[in-house]
Amino acid sequence: MGLPGRDGGPARAGRRITVMDVGGTTLRVGTFDAGAGGLLPGVRRTPVDGLARFPGEPVEALQRRVVEQIAREAGRPGVAGADGLCVAFAGPVDRDGAVRGAPTVWGGGGGVLPLRELLAARLPVPVLVVNDLTAAAWRYGAASPEPFCLLTISSGIGNKVFRGGEVLLDDEGHGGELGHWTYDRSPDAPRCDCGGRGHLGALASGRGVLAAVRRAALADPAGYARSALGGLPEPGNPAIAAAVRAGDPFATEVLRGTLVPLAAAIGGVFASIGIRRYVLMGGFALAVGERYRELLAAELVRQGCFGLTDAEAGAMVVLGADDDDHGLIGAGLLMDRRLGAAAREVAV
Ligand SMILES: [Zn+2]
Repeated sequence: MGLPGRDGGPARAGRRITVMDVGGTTLRVGTFDAGAGGLLPGVRRTPVDGLARFPGEPVEALQRRVVEQIAREAGRPGVAGADGLCVAFAGPVDRDGAVRGAPTVWGGGGGVLPLRELLAARLPVPVLVVNDLTAAAWRYGAASPEPFCLLTISSGIGNKVFRGGEVLLDDEGHGGELGHWTYDRSPDAPRCDCGGRGHLGALASGRGVLAAVRRAALADPAGYARSALGGLPEPGNPAIAAAVRAGDPFATEVLRGTLVPLAAAIGGVFASIGIRRYVLMGGFALAVGERYRELLAAELVRQGCFGLTDAEAGAMVVLGADDDDHGLIGAGLLMDRRLGAAAREVAV
């Protein structure tokens, strides 16, 4: 992993940044060593004080709990004393670090939470709050001169476009929601977590693939019975991923079907703004691994990308690193860049 270079200047040796990744179930805390460009050993995982732990509590109470928890974690021995804190948060975040919604953390509704402001008032260090995928994009963006689109395929689908040293979003945090782009407009299209129908996330996410396997099993019971999945009591995503990796024809055909809308979404991003690099991450895509990349590339070639040769279209998708550290590492790189810029402003 390269260090922030170019306009960020070399990282000051010894700069340490507390990094947090706040998801629907787990809060992870680590220390990013900017000099080494990576995390120090010992990332701490703890259940998030949100909906998953306190079901039924009002949104405002859960928001208070989460703020308390983040501040508490930032003050723990071994964590306090860092040069800054960057929080990667599972929800849309605006330019000022206010969280505009967090259905997986504190459920639907509730007002905008000025998380950065609340934390900055309590902590003695600079604080940055960004969306978790925005942070993840920085993992690849800090060292990448060419623009790219990060795509996460896990229980849902999300994306972020990184270009010219920034993640492209509007000031209110809109953008990166390809998962809620409507692909299937039929009235009985599969339902998305958000309540809509036919959204990309309902069709091509890990959950979407699982639902597609169930539909295919009903439509072709004999084919299903012959497949590696047929003998399992209730095959989940790990079993589906393993079956595709092992070349099971039934599982592969189902996955191939779910890649049609995903390739269409990528084709739309390419055709509109010319992004030619798509970094795949997320539990489901990475569990299938290289075969997922291959099948998606083949579908892109089949659909065609205007102005590109087949070889060029097929080369657009690459796999991201197969670990859980995207948000933490990206948060560290982004905060280090910001602290570097702030230090230069003071010097001027
Ligand atoms: Zn949706």
